[in-house]
This record gives sequence, structure tokens and C-alpha cells, in this order.
Amino acid sequence: MQFEIITIFPGFFAGIFEHGIVRRAQAEGLVGIGVHDLRAFTHDRHRTVDDRPFGGGEGMVLKPEPLAEALNALGVAVKTKCAQNQKQVLRSSQDDTAKSGARVILLSAQGRPFTQAVARELAKVERVVLICGRYEGVDERINELYCDMEISIGDYVLSGGELAAAVVVDTVMRLVPGVLGNEASGEFESFGVADEEISGSQEGVPRSQHGAGGLLDYPHYTRPAEFEGMRAPEVLMNGDHSQIRRWRREQQLRKTLKNRPDLLQGASLSDEDKRLLKMIDSESAG
Ligand code: SAM
Repeated sequence: MQFEIITIFPGFFAGIFEHGIVRRAQAEGLVGIGVHDLRAFTHDRHRTVDDRPFGGGEGMVLKPEPLAEALNALGVAVKTKCAQNQKQVLRSSQDDTAKSGARVILLSAQGRPFTQAVARELAKVERVVLICGRYEGVDERINELYCDMEISIGDYVLSGGELAAAVVVDTVMRLVPGVLGNEASGEFESFGVADEEISGSQEGVPRSQHGAGGLLDYPHYTRPAEFEGMRAPEVLMNGDHSQIRRWRREQQLRKTLKNRPDLLQGASLSDEDKRLLKMIDSESAG
């Protein structure tokens, strides 16, 4: 899978992708990351990428021409062209982009929320192009003409799209097959899919985990067994996989109910889960 990042601060990414899983994924040729300097697509002496907003107001706006050139250089062309009379909409190379499995994404506080479900969809695509905004943002025509979606990484305003692009790359690349040792590993984490949707889990191997089914992860412990007078839960040390599985599921439900009760609405819950939730709820009521 290939990521292409368009930015006015290419130096921002020096080092950020050189650690851990993302470094290994690149070294093994599973993932490639290209960083493209927007100023390389300017033609004036000052390498101008921004201009004042039409209509007045604060700040500057990233100009459309350098971005369009950068996108064209990456093989991304205009997806829809409004004919001059604005009645006839001509589909052009959007279809080519879709066929080649590419998605063009504008990082924006106005975008749709970036979730694990969006990351799972993007991980199926061959190529993701990420446009990092700066200042007040990007001329909207770039969004309309070239982008498949706007993505926000949260309800807050960053000073640029670079951190958001790094978040998207990191989250999506670990879902690319082969990047995490076990194909199903990502499903045993927070927001993973339910057991019945997991493929690639090893037949016959006793499992001590449930697919997250949209819930948060359970708590993790390691040695020493006792730390600052607190013992790790005994159940995790007795080797009984079905007991461990049951305990972990209960902890997932407890954490989700405590920190993200909203996730329970869309979660895949078994009858046993529902019974446990009732029990947890009655504990807090009692
Ligand atoms: N005027 C914009 C607004 O109010 O929505 C904010 C622009 S922000 C200062 C500059 C750039 O940072 C944006 O163009 C976008 O690329 C990026 N950015 C800011 N917040 C973001 C978020 N929550 N998610 C993704 N990108 C974000």
C-alpha cells in the first residue's frame, strides 16, 4: 500500500515514520510513504502557496494551483468537471482514480470523523493521497474537484494537517495484511470487529481473547505479579483460556460502559454480554 502526503512542511515527517511497526512495514515493502513538498509545484520567485481569502477575514488560504499540480504529478486528475453551463456534470478521471484503488483525502477539521471503521476501509485501498492544509485551510475547489473525502481526526483545530496525516498513516498501515504478525491482531484491540467477522485466526488454538466487536480493549498486565502492593488479577495467571476470555470480556464491557458508553449502541453484544452489562449496571446502582 502506498501513502502520498502533500505538505508545505515535508521536514515535519523526518523521523516520524522511522520507528517501530511503520518502519518495519516500509522495510518489508508492505507500505510505502511519499512526502511531497507543495512549494516544488510553485513557479514564482517566492514559491507562494497561499493567498488572502476572498470576502476578507482572518489568515491565508492555500492556493489551488500548486495543489492541483502536485495532485496531477501524482496521477490524480479532476474527478468531476462542471460544464460551463453548470448543468452537465462530466465524470472524468474520478473513475480512473477509483479503478486504480486510490483515495484522495483532505485533512480538515470540517471532515467526517476518522474512526477505526474508516481506517479498515482505507486499508483495502492501494493508494491513499493525503492533503495537509495550513493557515485557514485549502481553497474549497480542491476539495470539490479532487478529493474523495474530508477527514477530521477529532473535534479540535490543529495548526496543520501534518499531525492528522501521520495519525491516518499510522492507523491505516497497521491494518494492511502482513503488517501486524497475526492477520487478526487488529480485531482483538479497541474498536475491532466481532468474533464472527474475524478471518485468519488460527483454528484449534485456544483463544483467550474475543474480537472487540466495537468495544474498548480490556486492561493488560505483565510481570511483576505484584507492584506497589497491587497484584495482577489471578485469573490471568492460571492458564485457563476460557476463564481468561470471560474475564477479559467483562473488563471490556466495564471499560466501555465507564469511558465510552456511546460505543455500546453499535457494539455486537451476545446474550452473555447483555447479562454482564446488567450485572455491572446494578453494581453501580447498588
Ligand atoms: N479554518 C479551519 C476551520 O475552522 O475548520 C481550520 C484550519 S486549521 C488552522 C489548518 C489545517 O489544519 C486545516 O486545513 C487542516 O488540514 C488541519 N486540521 C486542523 N484541525 C484538524 C482536524 N481536527 N483534523 C484534521 N485536520 C485538521
